[in-house]
Amino acid sequence: MDYSKKFRVKPGEKVNLKKVDPGETPGFNNKEEAVEMTARNVAKMAELQHLFYADNHFSLLIVLQAMDGGGKDGTIRHVMSGLNPQGVEVSSFKVPSAEEMDHDFLWRIHKSVPARGDIGIFNRSHYEDVLIVRVHKLVAKDVWQARYAQINSFEQYLADNNIITLKFFLHISNEEQKRRFQQRIDDPQRNWKISSADFSERKLWDDYQDAYADALMKCSTTTAPWHIIPANNKWFRNVVISQIILDKLESLDLHYPKPQEDLSNIVLE
Ligand code: AMP
Ligand code: MG
Repeated sequence: MDYSKKFRVKPGEKVNLKKVDPGETPGFNNKEEAVEMTARNVAKMAELQHLFYADNHFSLLIVLQAMDGGGKDGTIRHVMSGLNPQGVEVSSFKVPSAEEMDHDFLWRIHKSVPARGDIGIFNRSHYEDVLIVRVHKLVAKDVWQARYAQINSFEQYLADNNIITLKFFLHISNEEQKRRFQQRIDDPQRNWKISSADFSERKLWDDYQDAYADALMKCSTTTAPWHIIPANNKWFRNVVISQIILDKLESLDLHYPKPQEDLSNIVLE
């Protein structure tokens, strides 16, 4: 199945998250099949990454956004696990530091864009500046409203410079978030993952869903598409994201560079 086509937000398409089922698993009847296919995809991604790195022509930027508990960390752990750390960088964007606050909102983002041949993973991103910032009114409305166009220009600029961007919104239900938070409360190994901020943010669920719908609608372009991934089932989320990344890597015209000189006559002593 062409999951990129299926879950991609078409440019200009209206997004209504209430109508997207976070529990659907099209193409799979059971977890086992999906887990097997994810393993195969991860192995193929690792192989292609080697060529991607050697080709040194493109960079790949993977943007992960989700409601709290949506599975960003788990996606990185499961889907990126086979990649060579030499060519991968994960950037996690937190509340901006004092230095970051003193710059334009894309400053810290641009610094973390992957170098040629590399794969960059954004755990949260510049989209926080139209999500939490909007929900908590951290800047005036006209300031965050102007950011959708600024983000589109920025991402177009990256695309013009051979930086390929794939964006994933991990879509979970309100019930699923509750279940995952409860797990974090109950399981001592997960306690560290939850804080009082998560409970207060949960109360703002509808505001966040509205902010997400707008960002997905206004900033899904042909060059840097958003995908809405049904993510209540972690195994489905993993197989779909690995498939979309793999399909993208396979679509590129990658080559090992030619040696700088003819090596065929060289005899090593
Ligand atoms: P975590 O990813 O759980 O470590 O939490 C990081 C927190 O930083 C989240 O609550 C984000 O919403 C918040 N955050 C990330 N970027 C920004 C930003 N640009 N402005 C304000 N808060 C942010
Ligand atoms: Mg958190």
